[in-house]
Amino acid sequence: MINFNYLRVSTTKGAVDAIVRDSAAQWIAGGTNLIDLMKKGVMSPQKLVDINNLPLKEIKKEGNKLVIGALALNSAVADNELVRKEQPLLSLALQAGASAQLRNMATVGGNMMQRTRCPYFYNPDMPCNKREPGTGCGALKGFNRMHAIFGASDKCIAVHPSDMSIALVALDSTVLVSGPKGDRRIPFQNFHRLPGDLPQKDNTLERGELIVAVEIPDNKLNKNVHYLKVRDRASYAFALVSVAAAVDLQGDTIKDVRLAMGGVAHKPWRLMEAELFLKGKPASEANFREAAALAMKDAKGYGHNNFKLKLAPNTLVEALKTATGKG
Ligand code: SF4
Repeated sequence: MINFNYLRVSTTKGAVDAIVRDSAAQWIAGGTNLIDLMKKGVMSPQKLVDINNLPLKEIKKEGNKLVIGALALNSAVADNELVRKEQPLLSLALQAGASAQLRNMATVGGNMMQRTRCPYFYNPDMPCNKREPGTGCGALKGFNRMHAIFGASDKCIAVHPSDMSIALVALDSTVLVSGPKGDRRIPFQNFHRLPGDLPQKDNTLERGELIVAVEIPDNKLNKNVHYLKVRDRASYAFALVSVAAAVDLQGDTIKDVRLAMGGVAHKPWRLMEAELFLKGKPASEANFREAAALAMKDAKGYGHNNFKLKLAPNTLVEALKTATGKG
């Protein structure tokens, strides 16, 4: 691990200024991903700007929105009474992520900013366009069991590893950021990006823009919800495929539904077409299967991950069955 300078800041402006001033500086909060990346030589910031003292830990109601500070810990959000009552899908997704120890350190903002777990990315001896643009993609023709089936490019087929983000995209959240040009609101759907020709860019933040909070609008999706994560081990493993499902059920009819998948794309993968199909229809396995077929229309395997082409629709159907009590 390299030597680095350390600075602690206590205001959002101080945090932004410190990063804008120094192109080799990087923010650190929980550090649960960044420290690993530094130890492995994947990232080597010359200065770490510690933002843990910023007043961004609050979880509160503001009008018809739930506002979660960017430095709220994953465990605090998962256990928060308001979150469990109003947005239980988020609580379930957080509980499925990592280990209890990591959830006690990791923050909401950091969870969104975590890097892919592609093994080629973590090995500086291997080619990787995300780590070192222009070197090629080791996974494209290599061992790509964990990799994307949606939205990949010939430059990168990595997946976004967060569980929390899968629930947040399903819940139509908004990311609040503060930067050198002022404050900005980014729909969660547009926060993470597909790799395209710039796989080194995970999200749409500009240099110096700090995540300060996430907003979730009120909804009627707090009764019939499920987060189903299929993984190699029962705990402390990233998703092969996960599904966040939230249904507003009236009798047997689906009035509203939100669906998103994890472990399948470079960004949390919202399933709008499947949602649209299901709205107004009875909650039945036949309809869930048809929705899953629609959701898989553009999927593509890369060899070792071809099993996801079957696993993903089956996981979607199972998540919907459990959410609607048809399981
Ligand atoms: Fe790197 Fe992306 Fe290829 Fe993995 S999939 S080796 S992260 S370019």
